[in-house]
Amino acid sequence: MRLNPMVMNCRSLHVLDVQGCPLGCILSGMTPDTATVIATYSRRMRLRLANGDQVDARIKGKRIKPVCGDRVQAEPINNESDWLITAIAERDNELTRPNMRGQVEVLAANLDYLVVVAAAEPKADWYIVDRYLCAAELMGIGAAVVYNKIDLESDASSTAEELASYADIGYDVVRCSAALGEGTDEVARVLKGRCAIIVGQSGVGKSSIINHLVGDSKQRTSALSDKTGEGRHTTVNSVMITLPNGGSVIDSPGVRDYAPALESSAVAAQGFKEITAAAQHCKFANCRHLREPGCAVKAGVDNGTIIVRRYESYKRVMNLTDQLSDGRYQ
Ligand code: GDP
Ligand code: ZN
Repeated sequence: MRLNPMVMNCRSLHVLDVQGCPLGCILSGMTPDTATVIATYSRRMRLRLANGDQVDARIKGKRIKPVCGDRVQAEPINNESDWLITAIAERDNELTRPNMRGQVEVLAANLDYLVVVAAAEPKADWYIVDRYLCAAELMGIGAAVVYNKIDLESDASSTAEELASYADIGYDVVRCSAALGEGTDEVARVLKGRCAIIVGQSGVGKSSIINHLVGDSKQRTSALSDKTGEGRHTTVNSVMITLPNGGSVIDSPGVRDYAPALESSAVAAQGFKEITAAAQHCKFANCRHLREPGCAVKAGVDNGTIIVRRYESYKRVMNLTDQLSDGRYQ
């Protein structure tokens, strides 16, 4: 997102009013917690107002695109139950991905934690897990890898190594079964007091985990009643669920694949903790860790301190970003 330098220093004011004019924002006197977007249904939203009430809302104009987690300015509309969203507050961070046309799509905003779920079934794709963790890293937030459906696991040792490597790198790791209710307390513990997003391939059990955490809460079923699948022309709905033990978690429709939208391939390394750490010792400050002499990252891969798959993930993110900036992505 491009921020106007005039308002970038002023965190209490929002930056994107309908005219894109920061002065308009200042004059409207908005405070950032006026309302929070807790569900999105295409151009309709559900808001939680500062007093805790929930209302439905439309968006004023076409220029603002609120997402789940956004803090917005909203006002009631005369003789209507809908409210009107007039501006979005400056975002702390955004979870992004490139869309089919290579533009940046914002999935959610103002997060402080990311939970990526993989499962015994469908078979875990650790490259996708790496790419979500890369996004979390670039957003500057903590993350957990949750491995679900352990009740279906025939050979626990095959995933133990992968999960241990994520723990070594510094991520929270939880093994659970939403079906049996095993390990879900631990998921609740890592989410407590946080504003998290739960991500992962379709079918890994994200909804089941959340359902387990909220119990019979009506909010869950009503908020998700028109959840739709993925697809270019399908409405993408996201919903923020308040957890009974504190904290909230944003659930969005499952995706088949994910990659973060990066400004340039040069920042890819910052999405991989262990690569960033090793890169301090590379001979050249602008080392891309490919074939450069004196590369500490390559040395780490060779001596086994950096996992080959993680290094491969790094290279894939870099390549994808280069392809996108060349307009070769389709
Ligand atoms: P989502 O697409 O990630 O939200 O996945 P869902 O929560 O919709 O779950 C997909 C399917 O996996 C459903 O049929 C669930 O009942 C099933 N499922 C979820 N968690 C578990 C689990 O721990 N064990 C087993 N055996 N099945 C599960
Ligand atoms: Zn290097």
